[in-house]
Amino acid sequence: MNNLAGIFREKKLKLTPQRIAVYKFLQSTKEHPSAETIYKALQPEYPTMSLATVYKALKTLVEVDLVKEINVGEGNFRYDGNVTSHPHIQCLNCARVDDIDGISFSDLNDKVKDYTDYDIINNKIYFYGICKCCKDNACEQ
Ligand SMILES: [Zn+2]
Ligand SMILES: [Zn+2]
Repeated sequence: MNNLAGIFREKKLKLTPQRIAVYKFLQSTKEHPSAETIYKALQPEYPTMSLATVYKALKTLVEVDLVKEINVGEGNFRYDGNVTSHPHIQCLNCARVDDIDGISFSDLNDKVKDYTDYDIINNKIYFYGICKCCKDNACEQ
């Protein structure tokens, strides 16, 4: 992993144990957890950290672009430690969110430009389907 102190210094962020814990956790997972999931996962190691603190740490990390907030259309946000632009797919059955690796839609902004007077700045692409373990009836929960 990159030097955490260096990354935070570059973003002018104070290294607090809470921010470090949340950031490290998101770097360690590809599961796009919600704040509640992060909170629960960190409980054993950080029993005094509240859900509000997790939210605050996430907000700060999102503001400086160390973490990405994604909204697949549920009531709450999910968080991604991978801040490079990449498409997501969500299972309509178990609600897991995965990255779609190896495909880029970066040329889509240019394509859409032909159909509108807008200057395209950004796009967010989500796909929905049924994941492999749901298809195989092998999901954990
Ligand atoms: Zn599923
Ligand atoms: Zn992702």
